[in-house]
Parts: sequence; structure tokens; C-alpha cells
Amino acid sequence: MNFIEFTKLYPDEASCIEHFKSIKEKRGIVCKKCGSTSHYWNIIHLAHDCKKCGYRTTLRSGTVMESSKLPFQYWLYTIYLMTMTKKGMSAAEVQRQLGHKRYEPIWAMMHKIRSIMGLRDDLYDLDGVVELDDSFLQDAS
Ligand SMILES: [Zn+2]
Repeated sequence: MNFIEFTKLYPDEASCIEHFKSIKEKRGIVCKKCGSTSHYWNIIHLAHDCKKCGYRTTLRSGTVMESSKLPFQYWLYTIYLMTMTKKGMSAAEVQRQLGHKRYEPIWAMMHKIRSIMGLRDDLYDLDGVVELDDSFLQDAS
């Protein structure tokens, strides 16, 4: 996927949220409390609420984004940037491209993404962005 196509698909935070949401739904959501697989999408809390017991599973829950407060767009764009550039991109450069004030959260985010990428051999395949997200949703810890 080239840069133009990518930015058309994911122009804003809402489209990035939708992307992570659909990946999660494709994988299937299992309620931690009762084991049910039926959920409502809770747009206010960006979470899946269990239809049976109401237990809330946030979009970040069970992913490397779990403890992060950074926007979903940061995550998706950084994954894209990291898979685009074969030689890798410095955290300072990504920070500049995202226009974020602080370096540390960006560095930490990239560190987490890299730990997920390390699980795959074919990660530098460009069209692997979607595929990468699959493993991206697995727990990094
Ligand atoms: Zn439940």
C-alpha cells in the first residue's frame, strides 16, 4: 500500500479506530467474565460491551496499546512508517512526523511495535500492514 492509498484509507483518528475495531471483531472477542462472544460496540468508551453480562473490553485491551494514551492514529501511522522504511526510522523522526511534543512516549511506542514485529520474518512486506496488525493485536508482553 503506498502512502497516498494509506492516507486515503486512514485520514483521521476515527478511521484508525474503525480499523483496529474491525480487526478485533474479525479475530473475535471473548468476554473475560462470562465467555460470551456477543458484544455491542460502545462508541463512547471505544469498547466492546458483553451482551450477556455487560463486561467491558476496551479496544486497547489485550493489545500492545493497552497502557498507552497515545491516539490510535499514532499507532497505525507508526506501524505504517516502520514497515515502509526498510532501514528503519528513528524515534526522533517519527516524533517529528507525528508532531508530538515529547520524545519518550514515541520511543516507548516504537519499542513495543518492534517487539511485535520481531515475532515475524516477513514484516517488511509493505502490504503486510494489515497482516502485521493481526500479530499487533496479540499481547506483546
Ligand atoms: Zn460477559
